Amino acid sequence: MPASCEGREGVVQTGRMRTELVSEPGLAERPNEDFASVGLPASGRGGSLVVLDGVTPPRTATGCLHSVPWFTARLGGALTELTVSLPDLPLVEVLSRAVARTAAAHADTCDLSHPRTPQATVVLARWSPAAVEYLVLSDSALLLEAPDGTVTPVLDDRLARLPRSALATDAMVDARLRNKEGGFFTAAADPSVAARAVTGTLPREEVRTLVALTDGAARWVETFGEGDWADCLALVRKQGAQALVDRVRELERADAAGERAFLGRGKTHDDATVVYAEL
Ligand SMILES: [Zn+2]
Repeated sequence: MPASCEGREGVVQTGRMRTELVSEPGLAERPNEDFASVGLPASGRGGSLVVLDGVTPPRTATGCLHSVPWFTARLGGALTELTVSLPDLPLVEVLSRAVARTAAAHADTCDLSHPRTPQATVVLARWSPAAVEYLVLSDSALLLEAPDGTVTPVLDDRLARLPRSALATDAMVDARLRNKEGGFFTAAADPSVAARAVTGTLPREEVRTLVALTDGAARWVETFGEGDWADCLALVRKQGAQALVDRVRELERADAAGERAFLGRGKTHDDATVVYAEL
């Protein structure tokens, strides 16, 4: 907790809060590789949210015997536990420990140095009576709404800033950019990646609502341009998280040629997760 937040303990009363969580696979016949949780510890004085988007592996070998859902369940489970059980541990350290714990679960059976070892994007947020902490690694999004309605997106835009030409083939990406200096970073097997995340802490009274989105849901803004981040948060508040995912699916189906979706990630439908927390 930064010094600026000390002494605020108890200033903001923890009242009723509202949370909503929706996670839907891109294709019914494929397992959902996203993970989402909301942790509300028994103290009733705070909570946490975790959203992961497991990176779909190539058809070629990855050095790992396990599935992406196996990986995201372990990493997400560890993050959920550590964010609530160790409330004073900074989120960067929480992520570092969770990556290390997950790596240890398959270090004996798998080649964790493979560039396509299971990996995920990460959004973490944790709130207490004094503060809201957040962490974003890779291309999922966290929206922070202030009491006056201002919405600030927290984005790790390293991947978005890379030229399309650099992303032409998986082999190029894996050799030069994936978890490499000058490229982009995901939570895989190296705990030190946590230091690459976009992080911050705000006084609790400056945050009214949090929304975390995997890129499959963020397409509503980023691919289809249906509105800005504030519009996106307003839609989730008024119509619910499922309405956002349903609208993305409609837009994907309407975009039959895949022209706009292709500018995104190259999949017609992607796993889509939305977590809404009104503090
Ligand atoms: Zn493995």
